[in-house]
Amino acid sequence: MLQVEEIDVFYGDMQALNGLALDVREGEIVALVGANGAGKSTTLRTISGLLHPRNGRIVFCGGEIHKNDPHTIVDLGISHVPEGRQLFPMMSVRENLLLGGHVKRARGQREEKLIKEIFPMFPRLKEREHQMAGTLSGGEQQMVAIARGMMSNPRLLILDEPSLGLAPVIVKEMFEIIKTIRSKGMTVMIVEQNVVQTLKIADRAYVVENGHVVMSGDSKELLNDDHVKQAYLGM
Ligand code: ATP
Repeated sequence: MLQVEEIDVFYGDMQALNGLALDVREGEIVALVGANGAGKSTTLRTISGLLHPRNGRIVFCGGEIHKNDPHTIVDLGISHVPEGRQLFPMMSVRENLLLGGHVKRARGQREEKLIKEIFPMFPRLKEREHQMAGTLSGGEQQMVAIARGMMSNPRLLILDEPSLGLAPVIVKEMFEIIKTIRSKGMTVMIVEQNVVQTLKIADRAYVVENGHVVMSGDSKELLNDDHVKQAYLGM
């Protein structure tokens, strides 16, 4: 579904990604793990068109996308739920969700999607439909962010640090939601500090260090890998 082919990405003169390559197949959960500053968020931002690679290519469903703007990429079916949620705090939950579906591929079916798919999956958001997003708890806000990402009817859902800043019991709930989303056939790419829980729900994972992939494979195998254990699991 997605092929990232040896991309080099810079912030000014600073090279953040150096020949980074990975691929995502339809229906799987793929995790990116690595230390702070390794280049995980930069990879996600480049896939969703917020940054453009200086070299390399990104192909999604058979077409090159690395020169496209973010809006076009959402319309092609990639939805990026950014780190830090970035909701509109003074707007209601419902308004935030509808905004997520304000793209060509989803606009016509927003109400239907909300009622038939989003609210059944996130019953708490239905209860709080008319509440201002800024007054929700951190976990609820993260659910709005994920639900908003799904409103554009994506084929690939990209999640950047969905559990950041949440209490452990809510983190558990968040991972359950991600499993549910996948069980509905969605393809998911996820960056997470919570490496153990992430590798448990992912099918495959890539370990990113200094802007490129140093290791990849079946996530359950990586969970037992000595380098991964030492570097990321503190064992
Ligand atoms: P983290 O978990 O800390 O976000 P990460 O693996 O997602 O880590 P990135 O945020 O992709 O890492 O950062 C990769 C490198 O690019 C780092 O050296 C970082 O300092 C740098 N970087 C990230 N964003 C910018 C920016 N807007 N301007 C300049 N440099 C940046």
